[in-house]
Amino acid sequence: MLIVQKYGGSSVADTDRIKHVADRIAMSHKKGHRLCVVVSALAGETDRLIKLTQSVAKEPNEREVDIVLSSGEQVSAGLIAMALRDRGIDAQTMLSFQIPIITDGIYGRSRINSVATDRIMSLLDRGTVVIIPGFQGLSSEGDITTLGRGGSDTTAVAIAAALKANCCEIYSDVDGVYSADPNICKDAKKIEKLSYNELLEIAGSGAKVIQMRAVELAAKYDLPLHLRSTFESMEEGAKPCDGGTKVLHA
Ligand code: ADP
Ligand code: ASP
Ligand code: MG
Repeated sequence: MLIVQKYGGSSVADTDRIKHVADRIAMSHKKGHRLCVVVSALAGETDRLIKLTQSVAKEPNEREVDIVLSSGEQVSAGLIAMALRDRGIDAQTMLSFQIPIITDGIYGRSRINSVATDRIMSLLDRGTVVIIPGFQGLSSEGDITTLGRGGSDTTAVAIAAALKANCCEIYSDVDGVYSADPNICKDAKKIEKLSYNELLEIAGSGAKVIQMRAVELAAKYDLPLHLRSTFESMEEGAKPCDGGTKVLHA
């Protein structure tokens, strides 16, 4: 199978979690799957970077803000690739300009216009795990632009659609989509299966479980989504395109 896995900020919050994520990726790779991994910045890092920009300028220039913000994802991508290589797995980062991922050029809230697949595919075909920093793309002028908060979800779905992946797995600290935020509401019930439209309603009502644009793209390309937990058992994690909350057409 060809699988795109996205690990959010909570999954890569510190070096222990990064090593745990590397163990999970290594397990999927050893099962023979072609793996493309999209990562967010370490939890809290994007907020920290925003504060930095605001502390040096009253009106930070939006082009330079995107330069600063996009750096968070590059750090986690490089660290995951290193941790995988340390486990004997051939892994390599591909930044948005190397792929390239081309956006509409709007700083801070870009949409993705295209994702090239040839360089990623040739790496996957020779067994390399490709690690891609989420949240960033390149304008047609070659400037880095970011995709808005939660944008790594959209990077993952756009790449999965372009690669015609079997599914896109979105990993976070919760094991799926619930009737309410399970970190706040103890009685929240897990939903096993959802339609894209139902998930759009949940995402649109302010729950930050997934970026809306990611759900719209998945629906457009009929790409199965699985929202899963990074902290589920390794046995559960060994099943690709399975578990968590499955999102499909109704
Ligand atoms: P990541 O850092 O992996 O991108 P996010 O924090 O963006 O993860 O999204 C996952 C969080 O979404 C969960 O920790 C949970 O608190 C929150 N959340 C809000 N509403 C829901 C819901 N209905 N179902 C599941 N998670 C939800
Ligand atoms: N790091 C960015 C954010 O915090 C993008 C993402 O995590 O999806 O919004
Ligand atoms: Mg998120």
